[in-house]
Amino acid sequence: MEKQLCPCQSGSVYEECCGLLHQGKQVAIKAEQLMRSRYSAFVMHNVSYLQATLHPSQRQPDDLLNLQQTMETTQWLGLTIVDHAETDDEAEVEFIAFYIDKPIGQLHERSRFSRQQGQWFYVDGEFLPPIKLGRNDNCVCGSGKKLKRCHGQS
Ligand SMILES: [Zn+2]
Ligand SMILES: [Zn+2]
Repeated sequence: MEKQLCPCQSGSVYEECCGLLHQGKQVAIKAEQLMRSRYSAFVMHNVSYLQATLHPSQRQPDDLLNLQQTMETTQWLGLTIVDHAETDDEAEVEFIAFYIDKPIGQLHERSRFSRQQGQWFYVDGEFLPPIKLGRNDNCVCGSGKKLKRCHGQS
């Protein structure tokens, strides 16, 4: 199999990045790492990983259905971590996950994470307004092309 760059845009190959977490070979040391691996799991339609990393107090009976619906209707383009603050067992990560839409869709969220018995979990998040994207900025997909020549084409 060809080596695939990790969807979280870390620049590492998938097997040495989020793949380690998805396959249970490693646990996330930092909440940011868990955040990235959850984004990658979204891109790769890994529902069981998303469920396993959701805080037990937040699990709902219809999670599975909702997740599958979101995955089928959303084509993710890239991830930007805006900010993160962590202690040993609590963390907040602000990120933007971009998806295909006209104009480009943004899930801009400040997420809360909590660590229990060495394992980070996603707790919940607060939605924030989309940021302004410049047409001459680099495209959010990481292609290195300008937005207007890539996914920002109208
Ligand atoms: Zn990754
Ligand atoms: Zn692009």
